[in-house]
Amino acid sequence: MTCAEFAELVTEHLEGTLDDREFVLHLTECPGCPEYLDQLVRTIELLRVSW
Ligand SMILES: [Zn+2]
Repeated sequence: MTCAEFAELVTEHLEGTLDDREFVLHLTECPGCPEYLDQLVRTIELLRVSW
């Protein structure tokens, strides 16, 4: 899986509709994407709070 594919799957992952195996594998292999996911989750939480 590439980082672009990962980014496309992030929303599905957060909705819980994704088969996570390759997604999780990429998280363990990629230095940048765990941080990306972390930031995204935080952003979404912030949006939820402000709503
Ligand atoms: Zn990546």
